[in-house]
Amino acid sequence: MNSRVLVLNQDYSPLMVCSVERAFILVYLNKSEMIKESMAQRIHSVTRSFPLPSVIRLNRYIHAPFKSVSLTRHNIFKRDNYECQYCGTRKDLTLDHVVPSSRGGAHAWTNLVTACKKCNTSKGDFTPDEAGMFLRKKPSKPSYAIFLKDYVYNHGGMWDEFLT
Ligand SMILES: [Zn+2]
Repeated sequence: MNSRVLVLNQDYSPLMVCSVERAFILVYLNKSEMIKESMAQRIHSVTRSFPLPSVIRLNRYIHAPFKSVSLTRHNIFKRDNYECQYCGTRKDLTLDHVVPSSRGGAHAWTNLVTACKKCNTSKGDFTPDEAGMFLRKKPSKPSYAIFLKDYVYNHGGMWDEFLT
């Protein structure tokens, strides 16, 4: 049993991913309900077999401060789909401050984008406007859901409907 379970908050918003053992216990203790069963696996006792959860929902809403995505180089690349936000290449990626930090640009989700070395160099100490370059999309803070979405154990798309 190495599969993972998507845990939804009481309001159906995606909260986290946990082990199937933990999810099973949460359901068993009536702390959560099974929303979707795993197609592949069941758990067997001597006399009965139970479906294993693939998606569960907590019965009580919990506030989860850890839900926000931390601002790291890796997470910015991930948000930007590992593509230079100016030319679209996936090679030689660096981080670019849209408004250069030397000119007061913030180190923030809304001012940091993935850029290839070439674009970063040609942009230099300019804003995109000044450099005549265009961002493919406006940078924003990603939601936690997009990080759960491409989780390796996404059960072949079984979770997609919950991660929109
Ligand atoms: Zn580029």
